Amino acid sequence: MARIVMKFGGTSVADLDRIKNVARHVKREVEAGHEVAVVVSAMSGKTNELVGWVQNMPKVVGANSPFYDAREYDAVVASGEQVTAGLLAIALQAMDINARSWQGWQIAIRTDNAHGAARIQEIDGADIVKRMGEGQVAVIAGFQGIGPDNRIATLGRGGSDTSAVAVAAALKADRCDIYTDVDGVYTTDPRIVPQARRLKKIAFEEMLEMASLGAKVLQVRSVELAMVHKVRTFVRSSFEDPDAPGMGDFLNPPGTLICDEDEIVEQEVVTGIAYAKDEAQISLRRLADRPGVSAAIFGPLAENHINVDMIVQNISEDGSKTDMTFTVPSGDVDKAIKVLSDNKPAIGYDVVQHESGLVKVSVIGIGMRSHAGVAATAFRALAEKGINIKAITTSEIKISILIDGPYAELAVRTLHSCYGLDKN
Ligand code: ASP
Ligand code: MG
Repeated sequence: MARIVMKFGGTSVADLDRIKNVARHVKREVEAGHEVAVVVSAMSGKTNELVGWVQNMPKVVGANSPFYDAREYDAVVASGEQVTAGLLAIALQAMDINARSWQGWQIAIRTDNAHGAARIQEIDGADIVKRMGEGQVAVIAGFQGIGPDNRIATLGRGGSDTSAVAVAAALKADRCDIYTDVDGVYTTDPRIVPQARRLKKIAFEEMLEMASLGAKVLQVRSVELAMVHKVRTFVRSSFEDPDAPGMGDFLNPPGTLICDEDEIVEQEVVTGIAYAKDEAQISLRRLADRPGVSAAIFGPLAENHINVDMIVQNISEDGSKTDMTFTVPSGDVDKAIKVLSDNKPAIGYDVVQHESGLVKVSVIGIGMRSHAGVAATAFRALAEKGINIKAITTSEIKISILIDGPYAELAVRTLHSCYGLDKN
């Protein structure tokens, strides 16, 4: 007997029939004798609808400002998960399973005060553990907790993955199963590369890079938490028949296991290729090459919540002037340019140039740490296809390459095959 946290995303609970199907997955694990807690998202599209309502309210009233109280935003958008938790509990009860729903504040899942993007600080799992011991299934509303101000707080979009991993850590679960609309983590996006392979296992660090660099399977924060607390996390499909052979296999369920790298025996050099669209490049030309110039640029950008990603600075020829290039999400370009021009006297540059619609493709693999020439292979393969590289950044386990948007799919396909990731 084990303790399992099962998480179901928006598409898995999109309507009553799908919630019934989810209940059958839960029933399978309960009947196998496991202790089960379930974390649910809102029905797909619901959170977007709720966010839209919140954003429109000030306009409808004719307010001068589009701003609204973030605490009330949370009160509204957290309601989607409350609905699915209740519906799933009803479905389980109708299947003769002892179940009840829990909202974040009832457990309590304690967060910080950052409404709209709160972080979980503490979860009191004692009551849930006791009830699981008595055979009750806890159905927990994901995405929400309660802040120190005693108000509902939400964890940022996609946050119910994070709820699930945090609950798994708090309950000391043996496993956290993330059920979604894909059947695992692939070497790259199968919609772009049909030869993409489903990975049996992927290391926490690699998954963290994949998620941060554009793969949309899991919220980045959930992977960080899984890594810190060493929560064995499976990504698997909710759309398969809950009673198909192997679905209840405890040691080897169908899907991808995200785990410690020590568990991965046959480590490939490269594990996957990720890509992120809508990147923009900003270049500051003829900057003074002096101490403090980077701080003068990136300090104000950070204060304005602009997320800077790749940063490339030239070594100046004569020690007086240099160029600095960095990337931001395309949607932040105008804001970034304004911040830079507001701060032009303090920074001291000649001109600022920018270009949107770029794509960052990334090659990820823990095996890179111990293999030379991984980057050179990528550069050669892209060159052969005539793809120009605009910027490069690397870490121990990844290489990110910035290219023109229209080449995105070709680049992903090229990199996927040059490292032998295509399935036969
Ligand atoms: N329903 C929330 C969202 O759409 C949380 C989640 O699905 O993970 O962002
Ligand atoms: Mg999600």
